[in-house]
Amino acid sequence: MVDLVSQYTSIKPQIDEAIHEVIDSSRFINGPTVKEFVCNLSGYLGSKYTLGCGNGTDAIQIALMALDLEPGDEVITTPFTFVATIEVIGLLGLKPVFVDIDPRTFNLDVSKIESAITERTKVVLPVHLYGQSTDMQLLLKVAQKHNLYVIEDNAQSIGCEVLVDGVTHKTGTIGDFGTLSFFPSKNLGAFGDGGSVSCNDEELFQKATMIAKHGSKVKYYYDMIGINSRLDSIQAAILDVKLSNLDQYITKRQTAAAKYDEMLKDVDALTLPFRAQYSSHVFHQYTIRVKENRDELKIFLSDHKIPSMIYYPKALHLQPAYQYLGYKPGDFPVTEMCCNEVLSLPMHTELDAEQLDYIGETIHSYYK
Ligand SMILES: *Cc1c(COP(=O)(O)O)cnc(C)c1O
Repeated sequence: MVDLVSQYTSIKPQIDEAIHEVIDSSRFINGPTVKEFVCNLSGYLGSKYTLGCGNGTDAIQIALMALDLEPGDEVITTPFTFVATIEVIGLLGLKPVFVDIDPRTFNLDVSKIESAITERTKVVLPVHLYGQSTDMQLLLKVAQKHNLYVIEDNAQSIGCEVLVDGVTHKTGTIGDFGTLSFFPSKNLGAFGDGGSVSCNDEELFQKATMIAKHGSKVKYYYDMIGINSRLDSIQAAILDVKLSNLDQYITKRQTAAAKYDEMLKDVDALTLPFRAQYSSHVFHQYTIRVKENRDELKIFLSDHKIPSMIYYPKALHLQPAYQYLGYKPGDFPVTEMCCNEVLSLPMHTELDAEQLDYIGETIHSYYK
């Protein structure tokens, strides 16, 4: 699905030098590379403040903890996401409240948010899935009307641009907080774990920073219960090298996606990725919908040595861990349909024309 070896090979001298500088300095935790990277990341995103942390899951947890919520407060989000998004909501004693998705973008159907709002709703947590933004202009209108915080789970969409009231923003900089994951296979991937939290409000940023450091502003003095979540210096050094190539990586993904579109546009059985007018698409995944016999196509591809993945095979509201929320099959029909139909094709920065042709031809041969 991804080719991280070839990507490394193409930037090996810079990466190796960056790693060795950290090793030579022995400043493995909170070294200068962490500050440099988060500063460059903030600049890239156009966000005032960014904090490095341990991973993308922690990033969401830190953001939620910074908002002074009460147990039982409700967080509206999507049932069609990686579990991390809702896991931390549950861990903090908050209640995930699901809203169904738009079948074209796979993101929250913003028009359905309002009907899920109750007196206890405090946060809307959109996930920009597969590389494309949620409709943030509409979402912000609803959030402002009901006085809700917004946390953007941007783990899959770094570099994506979205229009809000005629102004272009990078995703993850529009809500009160935006979170990122640097898991190796993400669009900006470390050589291990990493994550970040961005925001534009100084007070919220100070609070988030304190939470990630054991709830402490001054070492050995604790203002609140926090967690320990850090981006380490080696990961930051690697990420800084890769950040300078990120736009080029995104272009390569978009080029591969355009080629897939061209090859597959006349296969009636497939629905190709939709491009929303308000958003760019950075193609963390190239995800098609297969109306019938998706699993057979997947096996056929696998028999031809083509990997493909189902993100996500089972909706979160139907998972045993989340039965306590009281949802049942049929509650989110679009999500449930997408779980049965989605198939993500190989997508990374090193796909060449020959590989893409082979995948395209193999899919055509299946439908012959
Ligand atoms: C990857 C991912 C996360 C979690 O990131 P980790 O770094 O693995 O903790 C959260 N949300 C979404 C949508 C993701 O894709």
